[in-house]
Amino acid sequence: MTTILDGKKVSKEIKEQIKKDIEKLGNQRRPKLAVILVGEDPASATYVASKQKACEQVGILSVTKKLEESVSQQDLMDQIDKLNKDETIDGILIQLPLPKHMNEREVMVYVDPEKDVDGFHPINVGKLHLRQSTFVPATPKGVMELMKSYQIDLTGKRVVVIGRSHLVGRPLAQLLVDANATVTIAHSKTTNLEQICFQSEVIVAAVGVMHLVQKEWLRPNTILIDVGIHRTKDNKLTGDIDPACSEKALFMTPVPGGIGPMTIAMLLENTMQAYRQRSEKYGI
Ligand code: NAD
Repeated sequence: MTTILDGKKVSKEIKEQIKKDIEKLGNQRRPKLAVILVGEDPASATYVASKQKACEQVGILSVTKKLEESVSQQDLMDQIDKLNKDETIDGILIQLPLPKHMNEREVMVYVDPEKDVDGFHPINVGKLHLRQSTFVPATPKGVMELMKSYQIDLTGKRVVVIGRSHLVGRPLAQLLVDANATVTIAHSKTTNLEQICFQSEVIVAAVGVMHLVQKEWLRPNTILIDVGIHRTKDNKLTGDIDPACSEKALFMTPVPGGIGPMTIAMLLENTMQAYRQRSEKYGI
């Protein structure tokens, strides 16, 4: 029997809690998130719209700054600087990817680490690796929260994370090690991926290759976490793990309704964290 890790349900509970916390604020100022969207990429616009909607649902204020695709990196940095200085803004999120003429790493360094709700600033990345309190990137945090809410104990488990991106694979591997799992990171140059998967009790796919993970690669009762998002030819959403793998799964995330909604809920949590920290530190 496969248990579906219902990210939609868990994220709804998290959002309800955030909503209650915001209602309790009464007349105090509200948390506020600023999102910068550069260019016209339809997928990015959809992600930004769903983040905005989620903010509205729980009572977090949000503003979106839309910039032309052709904007210079300096102009983008000037915009970030304005948001950094704006006391009413708690969180700043720059929707990725940025246009090709920009250097994402240089841009990320510009975000005030205290408002870096994506957890991409080098200071926050470093803190995560040193196990200090920080902003944990939303997708890896969502993966961990979802497993936690189903009481999945990772202690001693052999886990493979497929993908080594700064957004997902690397921070997730760190969080899994901190949860006492034995972690392998696989990537595009890994050989014998099938064998590594077969030896693993938990597989996290954050690859960007539709249905890469196959049923034949799995031992019975594997825990499957699918971060990937793809559109099939008939316009349905699907992931990096072949749905047929459910036959061998003890737990499995659906796509859609798994890690996607958890990611948004974690962004809201990070915004609340920034709000609380800034309110306490600056008395605002
Ligand atoms: P990325 O392109 O930055 O990284 C992909 C990683 O996969 C790389 O490290 C690469 O080495 C590895 N890889 C590529 N081909 C491989 C192969 N054949 N075998 C093994 N490893 C291989 O992507 P990302 O930003 O980490 O995102 C990964 C996927 O997750 C994408 O489908 C993306 O759309 C999705 N995503 C979903 C959410 C969400 O909210 N659900 C959030 C972020 C990313």
